[in-house]
Amino acid sequence: MDTASCPHCHQTVDAQAVTCPYCRTPLKAYGHPGIPLHHATGEESLCQSCTYHADDTCTFPQRPYARECTLYQNSRQIEAEQRRVSGNLAFATKNWLKRRQALLVLLGLLGLAFLFTLQSHSQTTGPRIHLPQAGQRSHS
Ligand code: SF4
Ligand SMILES: [Zn+2]
Repeated sequence: MDTASCPHCHQTVDAQAVTCPYCRTPLKAYGHPGIPLHHATGEESLCQSCTYHADDTCTFPQRPYARECTLYQNSRQIEAEQRRVSGNLAFATKNWLKRRQALLVLLGLLGLAFLFTLQSHSQTTGPRIHLPQAGQRSHS
């Protein structure tokens, strides 16, 4: 059984519970188990940390003082998650580069050698100009 914490009495309850069995606080909106009802836990209204308040897309009349909301999306949690993901990505990239340092140096040297060869080849086989010899007539 998945569990959740009641925002009012902080008891552990079934995640699908529509109301808290201890204090009767509604946990799901409209008595429907598929729609979680978010509750403000402290002094601050939910809107203060909601993505839809931050990007000014919410049109709910209870904004910015909502203490209960079905659409609430915690912007701080999302930001923390994004920071964690980008931190992980930077760490993984650094690790990857560290493990393949020798290979990258080798590839760099090969690239330089290729460029050098290409340059010296173009110098020796540049365009040739054929000048007419003395006594030769050009056909025009
Ligand atoms: S979606 Fe709900 S919590 Fe978010 S800003 Fe609108 S009313 Fe507030
Ligand atoms: Zn409760």
